[in-house]
Amino acid sequence: MTINTNEVTKKERDCLLVLSRLQDGEFPARLSEISRDMGIKAPTALNIIERLEEKSMVERKKGMVLLTKEGEATVSSLLFIHRVMETLFVTSGVPTDNACEEVEKFDYLIPVSSASKVSKSIGSPKMCPHGEAIELEERQ
Ligand SMILES: [Zn+2]
Repeated sequence: MTINTNEVTKKERDCLLVLSRLQDGEFPARLSEISRDMGIKAPTALNIIERLEEKSMVERKKGMVLLTKEGEATVSSLLFIHRVMETLFVTSGVPTDNACEEVEKFDYLIPVSSASKVSKSIGSPKMCPHGEAIELEERQ
């Protein structure tokens, strides 16, 4: 079964991507870093994290905020959709930076099943215009 990314809002998507980036670092993310990274106040960030917690996408442990398997799968889908749509825009003649910015405005609204169809129709590209891998991890 593939994930339905329509379950996240724009702010929730931003938060998941920040978490994913911070999680690749040495230490797990804390609320203060997340709010700083997102450029929002801590209570606002907490509110978003609580909503993601209700969706089983993050968990909090001893002040740290961690992505769950569900959260990681959602990040993977979001990146897939973003990169496919971005590639479509660039192959259609939109400059790379514009494509990235414009696609960000709606990528979280597109079902992964539609992005998969778009990907096939443009020859299943393996890399986005930024050189990042386009891959989709199927969820168990
Ligand atoms: Zn991009």
